Amino acid sequence: MPVGNLLLSSSILLTGNSAAKTLRMFNIMNVACISESTYYRHIKSYVNPTIIQHNEVRNSSWMEHEGLKRAIQVVSNARLQIAEIITDRHKQNTAWIRTNLPDSRHYFDIWHVSKGLCKKIDKLAKKKECEDVGEWRQSVSNHMYWCAATTPDGNGRMMQEKWKILPLHIQNIHVNQSSELYKECGHGELEGEARDRLWLQPGSTAAVKLEELVTKPQLLKDISQLSPKYQTSALEAKHSLDLHFVPKHTAFSYWGMYTRLCLSALHYNENADRMQAVTVDGRPRYAIRFPKAKHGGYSVREVKTKATYGYCSSTITKVFAGYEDNSRALKTYMLNLQVNTPPPLAASIERPNREEAINSFISRYNRSSLVN
Ligand SMILES: [Zn+2]
Repeated sequence: MPVGNLLLSSSILLTGNSAAKTLRMFNIMNVACISESTYYRHIKSYVNPTIIQHNEVRNSSWMEHEGLKRAIQVVSNARLQIAEIITDRHKQNTAWIRTNLPDSRHYFDIWHVSKGLCKKIDKLAKKKECEDVGEWRQSVSNHMYWCAATTPDGNGRMMQEKWKILPLHIQNIHVNQSSELYKECGHGELEGEARDRLWLQPGSTAAVKLEELVTKPQLLKDISQLSPKYQTSALEAKHSLDLHFVPKHTAFSYWGMYTRLCLSALHYNENADRMQAVTVDGRPRYAIRFPKAKHGGYSVREVKTKATYGYCSSTITKVFAGYEDNSRALKTYMLNLQVNTPPPLAASIERPNREEAINSFISRYNRSSLVN
């Protein structure tokens, strides 16, 4: 086999690209290259088995479709105790954790709680006499992060009390007489912009409605469970990386999807802890972004050092070593694995008789064209 052919097939998959698009690009450029079926043969026979061996996960359960439950099973199987678990506010998860992990501390990811509340604030700000509420949206979200970040021991009551001063602060009242734990805002004397804010008038519709919103019992309960230290943003980042390797609009075979998710994990593990990049003269680099969720507002992010792709070169080396050593063994390995391939979801659907289905489609089409 020409070296370049296997190299091309491996590289397309390792970079998370689509074979159809990449090969079409070469065709348009009039560059002679392999066909799509050759690509699939290479992947199936040599690249996929190498990646699966490379990941050494062939004996554990295949995919974490059941998410939380299976992930926890894996952790328990390794005889690890879970001291803290951080999730979104999914009710089913919460109930399951309460029953099955009674000794673990369950925290909520702040972003998820904040996102839910911000949506409600946006909705309220559209109502009559409540427009000013929108001005406070970002402050409300910031305050939520602050409540958790300044309570490193995760004391739920303390976080709640810090939270409860928020509606008062928005009405330019900075003392909470009814609180024993947190009586006074921590900001001291307000100056400049912080003083000239669009304070809500006590008793006004906007103030009353916003206070109702932020003191709802369910929200207060969530606040008491906010994660003070760790958040799930890294997991969200992994999910969006998965989408790069396994785009939702493309159908993959079971093992095609499996290996692409393995690649996503390899990329993630190699790049998760990148340092902040520095400029030529050694200063840390930052970038200003305009996330959609901030409606024209900006956020400042650290710029990380460039991603590395060591896993691509090491996998390619392994593909070639395996092919030269015993290409038949790789094929056999894959064939043995395929015995365990679960049936596709469509397999449980009753298939119509092909000819009948087509005939009925044609006659329906003819009928409708007569009517029109
Ligand atoms: Zn205040």
